[in-house]
Amino acid sequence: MSTTIPTEETQNPMLATTLALFDTAFERLELDEGIAEIMRQTELEMTVTVPIATDDGRIVTFRGYRVQHSSARGPSKGGIRYHPDVNIEEVRALAMLMTLKCAAVNLPFGGAKGGISVDPSQLSMHELERLTRRFAKMIAPILGGKRDIPAPDMNTNEQTMAWLMDELSSHRGYFSPEITTGKPVILGGSKGRTEATGRGVAIATVEMLHKLGMSPEGAKVVVQGYGNVGFYAANILHDEYGAQIIAISDVTGGLYNANGLDLPEINAHVKRARVLESYNGDAEHITNAELLELPCDVLAPCAIENQITEHNADKIRARVIVEGANGPTTFEADQILQERGITVVPDILANAGGVIVSYFEWVQDLQFYFWEVEEVREKLSRRMRSSFAHAYEAAQERELDMRSAVYLLAVDRVAQAIQKRGFVTL
Ligand code: NAD
Repeated sequence: MSTTIPTEETQNPMLATTLALFDTAFERLELDEGIAEIMRQTELEMTVTVPIATDDGRIVTFRGYRVQHSSARGPSKGGIRYHPDVNIEEVRALAMLMTLKCAAVNLPFGGAKGGISVDPSQLSMHELERLTRRFAKMIAPILGGKRDIPAPDMNTNEQTMAWLMDELSSHRGYFSPEITTGKPVILGGSKGRTEATGRGVAIATVEMLHKLGMSPEGAKVVVQGYGNVGFYAANILHDEYGAQIIAISDVTGGLYNANGLDLPEINAHVKRARVLESYNGDAEHITNAELLELPCDVLAPCAIENQITEHNADKIRARVIVEGANGPTTFEADQILQERGITVVPDILANAGGVIVSYFEWVQDLQFYFWEVEEVREKLSRRMRSSFAHAYEAAQERELDMRSAVYLLAVDRVAQAIQKRGFVTL
């Protein structure tokens, strides 16, 4: 177990962006320097080497991480991702974003994140299960329903959470569904969790369009990333709000039709073929870079981090950007977008729907009493709308952009918790 201090010299753009945004919020709040220093660091970091036996009998090892940034406002909460690029700095940045996200929508959680540096497409189902169980065993000492609660993230899903929950329950000797969220409904998962992040992105989009005097009906929307977040965001905006989805993409490239894509047909194709590149319906094939620069009302980056940078920010032709992914915009790009008058609904607000329903799942697990999907959707919608309204008011009052306003609110809540708890007694 090691604790290391993140520094400004980081090479990781997402960590650099997060720390820079933290610093701006600290200055605006005129926050005590010591409290700011606590928030610039992570509480606990664990790096593990995870060995597994492959199906053909070899032993291979992977590097895994769990970082808890803050537990000031409650148990730390955050996803686990499987991706070859996972590294300690990325996990730190994502843990910090989780602290801020939970505070931004006023959940009683702190922030954490975890991951394994692995390409899961190269592993069989059995190998993935062995990897997840071994990782769970190694990080078990710092997890727990009242301590640190994982959830799915990139390339992990409800099956991953089921293995993790089973492993940790075995460790404790009794069924403990509150240890993870994003589980299958049959194991104490919440109805409405799978769609929750995308639904939250859709709600944030509609709220922002209304504030700008625009209607979601017929709005031209571009979605980068057609995975969990992007799929539900696009389909809910299309089906429930009448938006026109003019472009979507996945890692293999994008599809574009200025008059609106045929989503039901594309969804049927994706179900069969898994990827967009082999779709040969009524759409032009474009690259992810081209997709980001399409003229549209709303651009929703829902794939990975660092997509809008100083190299393409001046070419973005969207009226509004709604960040479904974590950290899709770099600090430099954010300044350019602000100068160009492009409104950004920041990640820690726009994609908070997932952690909001994770919170509902945790509450249901602790009570062993489960809600219908309508109740989950209604509560999610209420929480997203009130959080949006609060952030929007703060932005108007202080004449700030939405990101700065949300950071201010979130940092203030965490700082108050640190102070009131007396982390540092003089
Ligand atoms: P996912 O793996 O289900 O989907 C990711 C999508 O992005 C896929 O369509 C994939 O093909 C595409 N993609 C991957 N690499 C790409 C690249 N280089 N260029 C373009 N597209 C690429 O993941 P997800 O759960 O939808 O998460 C997406 C983002 O949203 C991540 O930043 C994640 O941290 C964030 N997020 C997810 C949740 C959640 O509940 N799933 C909650 C909050 C934030």
